[in-house]
Amino acid sequence: MELPKTYDAHAREKKWREYWEKENTYSFEVDNTKKPIYSIDTPPPTVSGDMHLGHSFSYSQQDFIVRYKRMRGYNIFYPFGTDDNGLPTERFVEKLKKVNSNDMTRKEFIKLCMTTINEQRPTFVQDWKNIGISCDFSIFYSTINNHCRRLSQWSFIDLYKKGREYRKEAPTMWCPECQTAIAQVELEDKKFSSKFNDIIFKVDGEDLVIATTRPELLSSCVAVFCHPDDKRYSKFVGKKAKVPLFDIEVPILEDKRADPEKGTGIVMCCTFGDQTDIEWYKAHNLPLRISITKDGKMSEQAEKYKGMKVKQARQVIIEDLKKNNLLVKQEPIAHEVNVHERCGTPIEIMNTK
Ligand SMILES: [Zn+2]
Repeated sequence: MELPKTYDAHAREKKWREYWEKENTYSFEVDNTKKPIYSIDTPPPTVSGDMHLGHSFSYSQQDFIVRYKRMRGYNIFYPFGTDDNGLPTERFVEKLKKVNSNDMTRKEFIKLCMTTINEQRPTFVQDWKNIGISCDFSIFYSTINNHCRRLSQWSFIDLYKKGREYRKEAPTMWCPECQTAIAQVELEDKKFSSKFNDIIFKVDGEDLVIATTRPELLSSCVAVFCHPDDKRYSKFVGKKAKVPLFDIEVPILEDKRADPEKGTGIVMCCTFGDQTDIEWYKAHNLPLRISITKDGKMSEQAEKYKGMKVKQARQVIIEDLKKNNLLVKQEPIAHEVNVHERCGTPIEIMNTK
């Protein structure tokens, strides 16, 4: 037999894949009671496009162990499943089918997700087969199938009955574009160019200059903080500051989380601009003033700016501050903003249930 001059990887891989499948090389032997069982469960990959490098990296590692155990005589239980539940799948289906889940009934959307996932899944799973992962692909599960849904609902009810679940209003990360609460893992840092605006608050007729990138949150201001060691501001502590453009007075408080090096060293706390605001809100028992609605517009709280989109409100408020001589200066900055990784929209913090 003559060896070919070049190695055709595609042809050889295909040949061996088909051979393994035909011979059931990686099948779990249900009736074999002699061999000890080695069972391995994997976090099922999310059907949201194609396999990426991270998938092949992590799946290869467990495959090394599985192949070793197989050669040591174990009966390997190594099923394969896909995670096709939840936000990543929803966004994937919306993008692919060019629909918005908000315009459909829940039933219609679930149906569309099911059919789309069934169309996409074979190509997606094929990537795992192509890199030679030695799962038993005949033992397949999907997190959206009736069995998995039933099981998770059962577990949810079980926890509820045991009093291990509760529901309450709490600040949550929110994507105004997808209109849903999102988890930390769904965040990404994105660089934005923005402006640090030095704005005048009034304390007994005196100016107190505060730097902020988010003047549209002025109506959400609930307190002003400085560092306890910052002598520049100690005379103001305990007094009230008048928020510019709004008829709100807020207490001036001390907290070690205020960074004297940042901006003017005195900072406004708004419900909610960032994680520190949440901490302050809880630690100092501050009131709640929500200026942004779930669809990313200004609320009643923002008074005359109500109904404007956040970005637009920011510009109009800057103009109004200028007109009233309440803007000292603006400095351009490039800063990292938390965005929702699926859509790139800067997140807001909302009080939701
Ligand atoms: Zn989003």
